[in-house]
This record gives sequence, C-alpha cells and structure tokens, in this order.
Amino acid sequence: MSSSVTNGVMGAAKNWHSNGKTDNTSRDIREIFSSSVFTLDEMRSRLSKPVYKSLLATVEKGTAIDPSIADIVALAMKEWATEKGATHYTHWFQPLTGGTAEKHDSFITPNAGGGAVAEFSGKELIQGEPDASSFPSGGLRATFEARGYTAWDPTSPAFIINHSNGATLVIPTAFASWNGEALDNKTPLLRSIDALNKQVLRALNVLGITNVNRAYATLGCEQEYFLVDEEFYFRRPDLYLAGRTLFGAKPPRGQELEDHYFGTIPDRVLSYMSDVEHQLYTLGVPVKTRHNEVAPAQYEIAPIFEHANIAADHQQLVMQVLRSTARKYGLVCLLHEKPFAGVNGSGKHVNWSIATDTGMNLLEPGQTPSENLVFLFFCSAVIKAVHKHQDLLRVSVASAANDHRLGANEAPPAIISIFLGDQLTDVFTQIHKGTNKKAKQGGMLGLGTNVLPNLPRHAGDRNRTSPFAFTGNKFEFRAVGSSQSVSFPATVLNTIAAEAIDELTTMLEKSLKGKKNLADAMHGLIKEVIDNHGHVIFNMDGYSDDWQKEAKKRGLLNLRTTLDAVSSLVAKKNIQLFNKYGVLSPRELEAREEIYFDQYFKTINIEAETTERIAQTVMLPAALQYIHQLSQTAEELSDSGIKSKAVMSSLKEIVELSDALSESLTELRKQNNDLGGDTVHQKSIHMFKRVIPAMNAVREACDNLERIVPEKLWQMPSYREMLWVK
Ligand code: ADP
Ligand code: MG
Repeated sequence: MSSSVTNGVMGAAKNWHSNGKTDNTSRDIREIFSSSVFTLDEMRSRLSKPVYKSLLATVEKGTAIDPSIADIVALAMKEWATEKGATHYTHWFQPLTGGTAEKHDSFITPNAGGGAVAEFSGKELIQGEPDASSFPSGGLRATFEARGYTAWDPTSPAFIINHSNGATLVIPTAFASWNGEALDNKTPLLRSIDALNKQVLRALNVLGITNVNRAYATLGCEQEYFLVDEEFYFRRPDLYLAGRTLFGAKPPRGQELEDHYFGTIPDRVLSYMSDVEHQLYTLGVPVKTRHNEVAPAQYEIAPIFEHANIAADHQQLVMQVLRSTARKYGLVCLLHEKPFAGVNGSGKHVNWSIATDTGMNLLEPGQTPSENLVFLFFCSAVIKAVHKHQDLLRVSVASAANDHRLGANEAPPAIISIFLGDQLTDVFTQIHKGTNKKAKQGGMLGLGTNVLPNLPRHAGDRNRTSPFAFTGNKFEFRAVGSSQSVSFPATVLNTIAAEAIDELTTMLEKSLKGKKNLADAMHGLIKEVIDNHGHVIFNMDGYSDDWQKEAKKRGLLNLRTTLDAVSSLVAKKNIQLFNKYGVLSPRELEAREEIYFDQYFKTINIEAETTERIAQTVMLPAALQYIHQLSQTAEELSDSGIKSKAVMSSLKEIVELSDALSESLTELRKQNNDLGGDTVHQKSIHMFKRVIPAMNAVREACDNLERIVPEKLWQMPSYREMLWVK
C-alpha cells in the first residue's frame, strides 16, 4: 500500500541512466534530413520526365492531379517505401477531434501461384474509404450516408513512420463526406490558402508587383509541453483519463523562483529532445529551437516556418513524436493546456505571415519605398481583419482545456487585440495624421527620403501579454492551445486576411481610378483602417485589470469562455465570410459549432466523472483511515489518562475536512447524474454552470485534505513529486 508511492519516487528518480550509450542522433544532418520522406528529389529520380512534370505542376501550382499518372506514381511510391521496410500504407487525415487518424492496409496481394506480392494502385493512393461514422461530423453525415472518403493531398509529401517492428507509408489526405463536405481540418485550410492566394495576387498587381505566380501563408508553431515520469503518470488516473491533474495541493515550491525558463536542460530531457529532433529531421520537419519553459518540468520545441499546409501536417507530427518518444525515456509527454493548477499552462504560438513564390515576405518592413508600401498595405489588412473578426480568432482557440489558460495571468487574455510595438504604431499614427502634402514632400509614406525606420526584429517579443503580436516580420498568434490542431486557427487567419485584402484592394483600385497616385491612395487607405480599426491595437500590459476596462470602452469583445465564444462561429457575418471565400459552407460551419459543444461537454463530463470516482475511492478512504488511526490513538491515550492537544485538534480538523469532501461529493454526484438537457448546447451549459463548480468544490476539499493526511496514506503522487523529481 503506502510504500508503493514512495517506491514510485525512487523509481522515478532512478528511471534514467544514459550509461554512456550513444546512438545515431548525432549523424550528419544532410544525411538524415527528410530521409523518410518521399521528396521531390526522390520522385524525380524514380519517375519519367513527363510524369514528374505533371506531378510537379500539381504540387507547386495546385493544378488537379492527372488520373492517368496515378498508377505510375503509386508504384514508385510503393517501391521506395518497401525498400525502406514499409509493409503497410495508411491514409493519414485530420478529423474534427483535432488530432490525426489512420487506418493501415498492407501492400499484400495474393498471386495466382498461391503466394503473395506487394501491390499499391493509383486508386489506392488517390482515394480511401475509412468508416466515417466514428468521427465527429456535427450532423453532416446524418442526412446522407455514413461513409466518408479520404483524398490524397499531393502538396504534402508522403513519409514513413517506423515502429519497433516495422514501418508504415503515411499518405497525407483530406477527409470528406461523399457529397464533398469537409469532415476534417485540412480541407478548409487548403481552401483558405487558395482564397488568400487569389486576393494577394490581386493586391500585388495593384501595388505594381506583377511577377508573382503564387502566394501562400507561412506558419511556424512553437510547441510547449510538460514531461513527467511515467512512474507518476500511471498512478494518476486523472492524468491518463483526462490529460490533466484534477487534484493536487500546491507544492511548497512552484515556479516562483523563476529559475526554470531557459535553465540548463536535464540530461534525461536533453537526450529525449535529441531523439525527438532526430526523428523529426528524418521526417523533414525543420525543428530548430529547444529550451526549458517557465514552469518546472515544462519545455518548448520550435521549427523553422514552412508553407501553412505542410507546417500544419508537420505540427501534428511534432505532437505525435513528442508523445511516442517519451516512454523510451521513462517519461510521459503532456500536451494538455493546463496539466497542473498553480503553474503556467502550455500554449502554441502560431507565427503567421504571407510569402510569395518569388521569395517575398509580405509582412517584412522593407528597405525601399515600394517595399514599404507593400508592407504597410498587408499590415493594414491584418489590423482590419483582426479587428473585424476578433470573435472568430477567439473561437478558433476555444476549448474546455484552453479556458484554464486564456485570461489567467500567464497566457494572453480572452480579449483579442494586436500588439504592434511603439515604433510601428508611431509610423501608422504619423501616416494617419500626415497630410497629403507632407506625403508628397517625402513624408512617412516613404516615397521620398524617409523610408520606414529599421524596425528591430525582436521589438515585439518583449510583450508576452498580447494574444496577437507583430514580431518584426510576422504576426504571432499566442492564444492557441498546446494540444490543438493549428489548422483551424490558420484557416481563420487566412480567410479573414483574404477578406481584408480583397476589400482594401477594391478601395485602392477605386482611388487609383479616381486619378490618385499610389502614395495618396495608400494614405487614404491607412487613414480609413486606423480610423475604423485602429483601436484593436494595444501595446501595454494585457494582464492588467485596466485593460479589461479599457477594452470594454473601446468596444472590443471579451469572450471569456468557450461557451461565450462558440456561437459566434455561426453569426451572420461569419457565415457570409466563409461562404464568400469558399472556405466553409453554412452547413459545414454549423457542423463545427455542434462539434465544439460536443467536445466541450464530453471533456468536462469525463473530468467530472473521474473526479467523482477518485475522490470517492482514493481520497475519502485515505481521510477515513486517518480518522480511524487518530481516534484509536485518542482512545489509547485516554485509557492511560494522557491528554493530547495534537491528537484532538488533528482529529477535529480531519473530521471537518472529510465532512466537507463528503458534502461536495454528494453535490457532484447529483450533477453528474444529470445531463442538463438533450442537445449538446444544453449539456454544455449544464457542464459550465453546475458541473464545473461542483468539481472545483470537490477538488478544493481534496487538496485541503492532502495538506494534512499523512503521505503514506495518500495514494496519488503529489505535485511536488511530479514537478520536481526528474
Ligand atoms: P521570435 O524570437 O520573435 O519568437 P523566431 O525567429 O525565434 O522569432 O521565430 C519564432 C517562430 O516564428 C519560429 O518557428 C520561426 O520559424 C517562425 N517564423 C519566423 N519567420 C516567419 C514567417 N515569415 N512566417 C511564419 N513564421 C515565421
Ligand atoms: Mg516567439
């Protein structure tokens, strides 16, 4: 009994010894990078020129795949994969759960002679038919049939995942119902990249840049995570059922010494990180940065940015490899947004910009007047987009788990604002105030001598309290949760940017037709953006109470919780937006709203039932046992005529606290037995209004008990152990 937990601590402390072993993680990067990826180079060497050219057009220009080459490509892919040891292939997709899904099929096909050969046809490459009925569809399938299909995404390369006993060829795919409605996160992302491309090309044309063929969003996603020893993890049903601790008294030491951030990385963790990085390199994921994060046992990994579609797939791989590698080191990787109360939670900073096939970054302030115009145009578009669609950005990061973070003093507030930095704000303010005359004289528009000042790259990063910050040559969306798919937040960014670029381009065109020169037209445009949307810019402390008041005065939204936010997904303006740019139909959007509620109530329901069970079967018995021990001692003492204040006051305290637990448990049980209604919306409201408070009360009672019950009676590892034993 009791000693098992103590043994756990010893086990955890001893779990890792490198024994001086080295492996292949230090091999030459040129040799290993993308070695498990069916890259363009690999395709070129295995395909005939015309086939390769046709495929390249699909990959690079997005032209539809020519069905007649599918068999040839499939054959080449299969040969490459089997040479690498793959026995199976899978269509890998991103269902609306936010994770990824895969069903494996082997290449094996019986031959006439009673043996078998490995085969893979073009049809199998292009299309798959997983049973869609077990994935959330938000009602999209209800009126049709249960089947869905997966469709090869040739723009994201196939790769190989190795496991202890073999390897699988993984083919990135989109997932849709038979009538073409998106059941996944990739399809709308691809559509939003198309919409953005179209509007950016239009805008660039008006701005005098005509050599660009394609523009696309770029993403770089910084992933935070926790590592705990598996000795502890498997003694915490809350961790393995709900992904976060539902109990745990604050330890004597948390993050207050502020000594963890960028601290020396422990050897076990560093070995783990190197292993993760090595695997990601072979998968072609350009991971770059690793460091300790703010909370004890918290870390971060960040890649170099890429095309948004590939970055989103790679982000899923980062999460997958982080999770699957930890066990090798006796660790478990927690991606939950708030695994521990009282120390920082985990986020995923999504760095976003727009790039062109000619190598421009449209959010890079330029060195020349014409580059400045381009930058100012696209930066203005982002300001307008974010202000107009604060609600959508907020919904895109909403989840029961992220509710613990947003608004707490560790993560950006639920109010969506933009941090531009003082210098850039000043530039916009000057242009806004400036007269046409001044601009003509070579004022702030930079058409004369005064080009934009050189903005320091990292000026933006000093303010960590902003949900959406300009950081030198990109925007950083910091409200995204650590376990979330980045696809939907990126879809929203691309779509709202496409709309703003569209509207501002139309405005420019009109001004130019009205015989204004480009500089004057831009001046008018910036004036209109700052007049109507400038109050979304906020460069100060986003954690302060003053900001809550100030934001209200400015008319900015403050959608504190998931439930406050979700329904705005189907607000009229948003239905129109997504429909107009062909990203999500009204039905697809409604389905997503439904899934948000569904996931929300199910998440909390699992947490609440886990809380009830653990409190009833682990915490309460521990308290009762302590009562039993104390009353026995009291009896023995009174038999010998000894009076003990220590015994009597301990007994009194434990009886009171266990009564409090018992009472709160009765209430939680009552709320757990009720669902609050039939619809996912009603159930979610029940969770929010009744279940969460009841669950919090049980936790509080248990955490109070944890502080006084002898450790050897307490069967669950404590925060102290989980956060500090490494
Ligand atoms: P910072 O110090 O401002 O966080 P870094 O250079 O460390 O900047 O970049 C942080 C993340 O932003 C990295 O993942 C990086 O690849 C990404 N990033 C940099 N430039 C861009 C860009 N143009 N588009 C998208 N992401 C970018
Ligand atoms: Mg950053």
